[in-house]
Amino acid sequence: MKDDATRTAQIAEGGFGRHYTDHMVTREWSEKDGWQEPELVPYGPITLDPATAVFHYAQEIFEGMKAYRQPDGGVSLFRPEQNAQRFAKSAARLALPEMSVEEFIETLETLIKQDSKWVPNNVGESLYMRPFMFATEVGLGVRPSNKALYMLIATPASGYFSTNTAVSVWISTEYVRAALGGTGEAKCGGNYAASLVAQKAAAKQGCDQVVWIDAVERKWIEEMGGMNLYFVKGKGADATLVTPKLTGTLLPGITRDSILTVAKDLGYKSEETMISIDDWHHGVESGEITEIFACGTAAVITPVGSAKSAMGTWVTGDGEPGPITGQIRAHLLGIQHGTIADKHGWMHRVL
Ligand SMILES: *Cc1c(COP(=O)(O)O)cnc(C)c1O
Repeated sequence: MKDDATRTAQIAEGGFGRHYTDHMVTREWSEKDGWQEPELVPYGPITLDPATAVFHYAQEIFEGMKAYRQPDGGVSLFRPEQNAQRFAKSAARLALPEMSVEEFIETLETLIKQDSKWVPNNVGESLYMRPFMFATEVGLGVRPSNKALYMLIATPASGYFSTNTAVSVWISTEYVRAALGGTGEAKCGGNYAASLVAQKAAAKQGCDQVVWIDAVERKWIEEMGGMNLYFVKGKGADATLVTPKLTGTLLPGITRDSILTVAKDLGYKSEETMISIDDWHHGVESGEITEIFACGTAAVITPVGSAKSAMGTWVTGDGEPGPITGQIRAHLLGIQHGTIADKHGWMHRVL
């Protein structure tokens, strides 16, 4: 176990995924015996046979969620039942075993209670929880694994991207992230593996992130990297927040879903619809689109400044983070850190 000084220094270092807490949860599954009891063990490496299925055929899924320090010193999770349900859906898609919502949340509570000193205290900081599961059958035959291992690790997190600068994006017309019937809706490592070359192409274009379009018509905006997208149309109280509709190829983000509700709470209209590359281009050129941001658990909200594609470069507004983007971000963080009333019963108290 790390001593107090080391822990304090590692939390203060911030970033994302640099240091891990003292413990982890593991839980084994086999077709023969089903789920074993979860175990809370010291954080550390695991040993696997080189012929373990996951290394060869990528049968793996994960989740990402955060535990937030509350004003009274307690700790809460944000909508963990949503992550639990999505984890079960991802499991079903990847032919891995499903775990009940209650049992999934119990593993989170166990680790948070054990390593609660690792939950940072400041707004914008949190303990990022990473549950994941992979195929552990040994052998090179291609079939659904008859064994799996669930694991849960945690890492103190602060800003994922620096929050006060807008990112630039490359709209990829060469690579696609997901097609209907594929794994776009599942949170699986394989989706990310296939996305990295596009991320590299974006960097080559001088852009921070890649924006995905649909696989069929190659014109509909889907997501940005590992985050969902929002477009703000209009200004002030009359603004509408528009996000690409869930067509079966987008990852249904919990942040995305929460913002649909938060927008309404703040008096804005919101809409889920199809948005094309042309809509983006003409929207920012005419000034109808005033702000664009991406959203997800890790970075919460990231403003999007300029977009570059084979068709040219377009800048949103003045290229700086917009006021509604900032307002939504502050409101979400306020709910998560317990400084704004939790009207929708989203917070799940752990400690
Ligand atoms: C996890 C993820 C998101 C965001 O989901 P949240 O539940 O908001 O964290 C968006 N897109 C992809 C591809 C993801 O993997």
